[in-house]
Amino acid sequence: MLYTNQEVSGWGNYPVVPTHMLKPKNTEDVREALAYQKNIARGLGRSYGDQAINAHLYTTSLTGLNHLLDFDQQTGILTCQAGTSLADIIRTFAPRGWFPAITPGTKFVTIGGAIANDVHGKAHHVDGTFMNCVLEINVMLADGSTVKASREEHADLFRATFGGLGLLGFVLSAKIQLKKIATTYFTKKAIKARNLEEMLEAFEQYDQDYHYSVAWIDPLAKGRSLGKGVLTIGNMASVADLPKKLQSDPLKLASEAKLGLPFYLPNISLNRLTVLPLNRIMEAVQSSKAPVAHYEQFFYPLDAIQHWNRGYGKRGFIQYQFVIPTENAVYNITKILSRIANSQCIPFLNVLKKFGNSDQGILAFPMEGYTFAIDFPVTKHLPAFIAALDQMIMEMNGRVYLGKDAMLDEATFKAMYPHYKEWLTVKEKYDPHNLFSSNISRRLELEVMPEKALV
Ligand SMILES: Cc1cc2nc3c(=O)[nH]c(=O)nc-3n(C[C@H](O)[C@H](O)[C@H](O)COP(=O)(O)OP(=O)(O)OC[C@H]3O[C@@H](n4cnc5c(N)ncnc54)[C@H](O)[C@@H]3O)c2cc1C
Repeated sequence: MLYTNQEVSGWGNYPVVPTHMLKPKNTEDVREALAYQKNIARGLGRSYGDQAINAHLYTTSLTGLNHLLDFDQQTGILTCQAGTSLADIIRTFAPRGWFPAITPGTKFVTIGGAIANDVHGKAHHVDGTFMNCVLEINVMLADGSTVKASREEHADLFRATFGGLGLLGFVLSAKIQLKKIATTYFTKKAIKARNLEEMLEAFEQYDQDYHYSVAWIDPLAKGRSLGKGVLTIGNMASVADLPKKLQSDPLKLASEAKLGLPFYLPNISLNRLTVLPLNRIMEAVQSSKAPVAHYEQFFYPLDAIQHWNRGYGKRGFIQYQFVIPTENAVYNITKILSRIANSQCIPFLNVLKKFGNSDQGILAFPMEGYTFAIDFPVTKHLPAFIAALDQMIMEMNGRVYLGKDAMLDEATFKAMYPHYKEWLTVKEKYDPHNLFSSNISRRLELEVMPEKALV
């Protein structure tokens, strides 16, 4: 199979690297791609950092493997190829009353990508990570064999592949459990919080009665208003919950997004003056009193604008997502937000969610506590500032999300993810020669090192 030479990046457009891109159309092509050593799978490129890029080496786009293989309308169990996107699944199955059970904040992710980052949604404290809706995966290993992995068979491979950043093999297909829905709408409520303490109290107060929760936090608030924002909570809507005019088509699909950013905005537009109106708009949207929202607005508001990532200019941006334990959360988050507010780095968007405790992949990100996702445009000050934040998060016993990271160093990663040793024993068993390798795996030493071979 031939490759093309092209430049590639994650969703944050940072870093951008040259790569040899392979585009298999079927399983046999994927096996041929294994001849190209030091290779990494790529889905829809929605990871923000360097997870699905491989500088000067091989990147295999698996979006051509997007066939639906089997579906049971009674149980909602779907088997599909790993390049199938959540958007494909919604388009086909929402009108039949089934929806992805766990979804991140964009539907433009593949099943392979959702598995490799063990993604989470707005209900992690109830649903856990993506692994919880997957029954079985089919993985092509470095030697060309295909292996079925589940909680019963090759359980080590199963648990290491979720959150394993594509570094154990090409996931070819998966059997996943969809969730029954009566409508494609959600009942929702917006709660304004004047500061961080009120915000965390609101999360705890509404925990029991609402399945989904997410908060927009004003990145410009300081002092006594630090942590001010709007918490949005919601549940799946029944037909009776809908206003009369929506009841005739309760499983309505959204129309495809038509708005788009056709070019990169100039870097100069990213300053404290532009962050203000952007966040006033966010505040107004989040505070909307509409009692019902379609899944498109409820789960995927950013999908409405194609290529919105170009708004951060050609230098790109990072999405810095971290989690810290519930204990001392107010004190610790205050420390982190104050540090950010007093820095030269401008936080553009700031989202807060709650995590629970659940079974998940070995290198998966969540832990019981609170997670922040903050967009920072890339500037010359950013790497040193992020390194300082990483140290703070580590000292608070928290960690940074590998599925979005672009800057963590190896030593800090290893301190944040002590399970990496267990993961490396599985890597050594299934990919001893590091056929699967990427920018992030080399940056964090997620590779089998001959001199450090684990016995
Ligand atoms: C607007 C937006 C909102 C988001 N919200 C959330 C959120 O709420 N929660 C969350 O957890 N994440 C979130 N993300 C991140 C996103 O869900 C993940 O990065 C997801 O993994 C991207 O999937 P992808 O198909 O684009 O994979 P890519 O970004 O292309 O690749 C991601 C990883 O998957 C691996 N991979 C891809 N396909 C395969 C395969 N078939 N076999 C083996 N490995 C494979 C790649 O090697 C890479 O390591 C968001 C991203 C965006 C842009």
